[in-house]
Amino acid sequence: MKNDPFFEPIPGTTLPRFAGVPSFMRLPIIDTKHKRIDDVDIGIIGVPWDGGTTNRPGARHGPRQLRDLSTMIRATHPLSKISPFNLVNCADMGDCSINPADLDDTMERVRKFYSDVKARGIVPMTAGGDHLVSLPVLRGLARDAPVGMVHFDAHTDLFDSYFDGFRYTHGTPFRRAIEEGLLDPKRVVQIGIRGTMYDGEDIKWGRAQGVTIITMDACMERGLDAVMAEARQIVGDKPTYVSFDIDCLDPAFAPGTGTPEIGGFTTREAQMMLRQLEGLNLIGADMVEVSPPFDNSGNTAWVGVSIMFELLCMLAVAVDARGH
Ligand code: MN
Ligand code: MN
Repeated sequence: MKNDPFFEPIPGTTLPRFAGVPSFMRLPIIDTKHKRIDDVDIGIIGVPWDGGTTNRPGARHGPRQLRDLSTMIRATHPLSKISPFNLVNCADMGDCSINPADLDDTMERVRKFYSDVKARGIVPMTAGGDHLVSLPVLRGLARDAPVGMVHFDAHTDLFDSYFDGFRYTHGTPFRRAIEEGLLDPKRVVQIGIRGTMYDGEDIKWGRAQGVTIITMDACMERGLDAVMAEARQIVGDKPTYVSFDIDCLDPAFAPGTGTPEIGGFTTREAQMMLRQLEGLNLIGADMVEVSPPFDNSGNTAWVGVSIMFELLCMLAVAVDARGH
């Protein structure tokens, strides 16, 4: 299906890429009150919130720097030749309303926003924010039936609680999502898990629910093609969400994040893995935990938006295949 030229990004050959207002991928900014909102197929949404962060904060500044660096992205994928902007109507939907001083209020604002996005038939590509953001996003998207998930991360984010029983941090979103019936644990695969541990209860609990947890060491031992083939088999052809925590990458590539772990993926390996998501029934994706204050060079955000472009290509193919 051909898209509407109104939704095409401003090309760098028309207006230099350092010029103009930096919307995501230089797309039109279409918020929910805009008259063209019902023509949007994929909405890129910022959630500038790090209220779930347990250690080093700053991911609230992610969306703004990701937008800025995203002006470097061109329209067509170099290998697959996919241009998400030719396949479907993409737009920058702005930032979701949040309340930096109230976790419960923010969770409800985000849930409502994504519930509305889903009701409009828009597939969301989210820029966080810390990883707790994924929980209210899933509450908005998966309230009718549990979805599958391909999750790239150094951490499982399957912990039960922090600080004497507090259940909502960026270390707990997927435990809550499984408990709430938003994720089908047998259709969840976690890739790249590593780092020093607390007690391993998160991994034990996840595996007991049926989550497939593939450690970084297992990824290297088995090879990434085999890992992605298994991931595809696990999620199958039913609705699937993709969550990408930038800390799955090695801190050499992405130092600007709150909880870095050495021995991670290269940017090249991440690209090769994400390209193997083509053809899955994807219903949304997120890029989380980019924390600009920990990387004054801006490179982590550049890596982040480059990964977002890979994800956007996969989402566009999925939306186009479903018919929109
Ligand atoms: Mn995470
Ligand atoms: Mn992580």
